[in-house]
Amino acid sequence: MGDPNKPMSCQKTLRIVKAFFFCGLGLLLLAWAVLSLSQEVSALVVVLLVLGIVSAVSGLILCCARLRCPCCGASLMLGGRIPSRLPNFCPGCGKPLE
Ligand SMILES: [Zn+2]
Repeated sequence: MGDPNKPMSCQKTLRIVKAFFFCGLGLLLLAWAVLSLSQEVSALVVVLLVLGIVSAVSGLILCCARLRCPCCGASLMLGGRIPSRLPNFCPGCGKPLE
């Protein structure tokens, strides 16, 4: 705690990635619900869509950029998807992940 140079743990990164991603999906779902209720593309729908896409894409970018093995830097994404949970061992170097 309190050391800014220490890299975030993978578990913490994954939690943040998921928060962004599912927040974005939730906003997109909300936009779809508002759209189907109001039957017209209102400013609210556009705002929800944009926020949802930005949030989901941020989650994916964060996942690509930060969700890496602390030892060898191998990506921990599974086939380009956000993993539901971290593997126990790094797929690159085989070291156990925290
Ligand atoms: Zn590794």
